[in-house]
Order: sequence, then C-alpha cells, then structure tokens
Amino acid sequence: MSGHWLGGSMFNFLRRQKQPKVFVIGLDCAAPELVFDAWRDQLPNLRRLMENGVYGELISSIPAITVPAWSSMLSSKDPGVLGFYGFRNRADYSYDKMTIATGAAMKEKWVWDILGEAGKQVILVGVPQTYPVRPVNGYLISSFLTPSVEKQYTYPHELRYEIDRVLGGEEYDLDVREFRTEDKDHLLQQIYAMSEKQFKVMRYLMDNKPWDFFMFVDMGVDRIHHGMWKYHDPTHPKHEPGNKYQHAIRDYYIHLDRQIGTLLERVPEETVILVVSDHGAKAMHGGICVNEWLRREGYLVLREEPEGEGPIPFDKVKVDWSKTRVWGSGGYYARIFINVEGREPQGTVPAAHYEAFRDELAEALRSLPSPDGSDIGTRVFKPQEIYREVRNIPPDLIVYFGDLSWRSVGSFGHGGIYTFENDIGPDDANHAENGLFILADPRAKGSGRRIAARQLMDIAPTILEAFKLPIPPDMQGRVIEG
Ligand SMILES: [Zn+2]
Repeated sequence: MSGHWLGGSMFNFLRRQKQPKVFVIGLDCAAPELVFDAWRDQLPNLRRLMENGVYGELISSIPAITVPAWSSMLSSKDPGVLGFYGFRNRADYSYDKMTIATGAAMKEKWVWDILGEAGKQVILVGVPQTYPVRPVNGYLISSFLTPSVEKQYTYPHELRYEIDRVLGGEEYDLDVREFRTEDKDHLLQQIYAMSEKQFKVMRYLMDNKPWDFFMFVDMGVDRIHHGMWKYHDPTHPKHEPGNKYQHAIRDYYIHLDRQIGTLLERVPEETVILVVSDHGAKAMHGGICVNEWLRREGYLVLREEPEGEGPIPFDKVKVDWSKTRVWGSGGYYARIFINVEGREPQGTVPAAHYEAFRDELAEALRSLPSPDGSDIGTRVFKPQEIYREVRNIPPDLIVYFGDLSWRSVGSFGHGGIYTFENDIGPDDANHAENGLFILADPRAKGSGRRIAARQLMDIAPTILEAFKLPIPPDMQGRVIEG
C-alpha cells in the first residue's frame, strides 16, 4: 500500500469527518423550568446535552407566539422586519380584512436558505410557516399550518411516497386534528400517534438522506400544554390534586426524550446540537373581554346590544364606527387597533392626537385590574418602540394581560369583562415569554453551565457560526458561545 495513497485518503477522510453538521431539536412551547429543573433527571438525553453544553432561557419574540416566533428565530429578524405580528394580520386599513401569515408571508431568508446557497444539504421537518412548500437544498416536510396532506406538504413532492411507504400507508399527521377537545384520552392518543409517525419518518430520513443541517419541530408539546396544563400545574386555578392526568405532560416529555435518543444515536459525533423552544407555558388564569372593556370605557360603540347565547364573535356585532375610537382582537395576547382619521375608512381619532391618545390608552390598559381589584402586571408595547422596522400593518398596541397569565377575548356575551371559559374551546395554558435553549458543541467542550437568557434571534447566527459561514449584517441576533 502506498503511503501517499493512504495519506491522501486519510486526509480526505478526516476532512470529511471534520465538516461540521448542525442538528436542531425544536420543541414548540417547551418550558425551561420543566426541562432544566423539575424533570431533568427523567430526561436522560436532554440532560446529557445540558451536561455537555450550555443552556438557558430563550426570550421569545413580542408577541410570544408560534408565528412569528420560529421565523424570527430562524431568520434573526424581529416581527416588525418580518412584517407579521401573529397568525392573523390586518391586510389593509379596513375593519375586517385579515390575512393568515403562512410561509407565503415570509419575505426574508431563513437560515436554511443561506445554508443551501452555501451548498449545505438540509432536512426540515415540521418547522412552522414552511407551507406553502418552497424548494430547499434537500428535503422538507411542512408543518401544522398545512391544510392537509392532500396538498403538497413535502419537498420534493415525491418524498410523500417514501413517507407513505415508511408509515405502511397510514396518513402522516401534520398536527393534532382536534386539540381543543374535552376528551383528553382522545387528545393524548392523537398527540402520541402524531409524534410516533414523525419520529419514524425522521429516523428513515436520517438513515437514507444526506444532511448537513437537520431540524425538526415537535408540536405535541404545545398541544399537550394547552390541553392539559390544569391537570399538571398545582397553581392553575382549576387544578385538582390527584387527578387522573396529573403526570400526562411529564410522561409526554419522557416519551419525547426517548424518541430524541433514537435520533441522537444517528447523529455523528462532531455535530453541533441545539435544543430550542419558541416560548414557554404558564397557567391561564382567565380571559379579559377586551372589546367589552373598551365598550364600557367608551372607546367602542355598538349600534345595538349584542344578542344571543354564549360568545358572540366581534364580526357578528354592529359597530358604530363613526363613534368608535378603539377595537381589539382576542388571542393569547391582545392586539389593539385605533380608528384613525384619514387612515381607517371612518376614522375618529385625529392623526395629530394619535400619540397622546395611544399613551392614554396604554395607561388605561395597564391599569385594568384583576376581578378582586389588584394589579395584574399587564405589559403594553408600541410596535415602533420594540422593532427595528415596522412593515405592513401592525396593531397599534400589543398587550400582555397579566404578563400573559390572562388571555384576550374579543367576543361579547360573557356577562362582564372577565371570563373563565375560553370562547374558542378548552385551553388551560398561555404562553410564557421565555422558552429554552441547549447548545451542545463538541468543539467547545461545554461545561454544563446554565448561562444568562438569550434571545430567539441569536439562534440563526449561532447556526451559521457553527458552519463557519459569514453572518449577514442585517441579522439582529448575536452568536451564543458554546
Ligand atoms: Zn409555539
């Protein structure tokens, strides 16, 4: 055997081995206090990553919502620059035209676009806002905002036939179909079925497709938090100690950790591994009926009393726009819109008074107390103050009632401004502002340190840095050092 030949081969072999890879485990809504503290010892795979790396809380975008959070994380742009402020956004300055921020709303590059341009092979599974499917340099399975598997949900299209074969003809689940259900056994069955299929397909992809960058997002964590938080959290107002589902969330984390272990077995040693969540979770104390409150405060005027039983959606009531100055939208956070002269069709607030009026309104929202009259710690944000740029049409104010312990309810007919039933189906959890990250970089020999909180937008530059690729100057985050 010639030494020269061996040397060359060895050199190529080593060079190939040293090509960095990045593997990203996305857990939508995973809560740092559960992974880092409460269940650390029951999650051996995640614990090993913590011990071999650094970890900490990951501060979400404002709003702390799946869309825009994942795209903010993976483009390193804030929601104002991205130009979407939640799932639903105003399409124009009319009173009712809204659009859904699918992947089509995303005009900036995701980190995998940059990696693909640099020749890196990517595999993406379940990352929010990847529908409608766009070409990538590799393989993609879209996410929960895909209408159904009847649509093109993979790239390339033909990948769907491989998935069919791997699942033995069973349908791939893009989401839990009915997650706002009172039938909790059915909810659990759906979540586990979705997860098992997704991990099976991912093991197949890892065994059969080349990749430099692999990322997946598990939506089961989010679905189980929203559906079952009251069973698990003793501080939840509806918690019953000793209930049948007390450990359901913990058991799902344990299941996930095991499934993650089956993927980590397939990850080459030199791979940089990231675990990330887009926000955390916390108990929901109730809902604040934002439009009812605006009406009682004189900001919103209806032409007639809302009629009917139960929640009456905002678009079913007759608003007197000529007398209305403000209206709002429901969700985990409130979006507040001001009816501005010359901007909205029947604007009432003079543009010259806009800022003073917005300040007065923000103060009134901050002062809205709990039912017993105490301060709930509401936070109010002006888009122009929190984003680098403000594109498309943002809400005039973004409100975290009780710092997200209270949701915003847009409908009428709740008999007051507080409600303890959700108008769109059972939901026990709201989002907490902080999610989590774990960064295990084999080159850094991480010390297992818990470090100060970082921000979502730090993730994309950290991925580029792992590949030693230049970081575009318009990325807003900073590299997390392993
Ligand atoms: Zn989420």
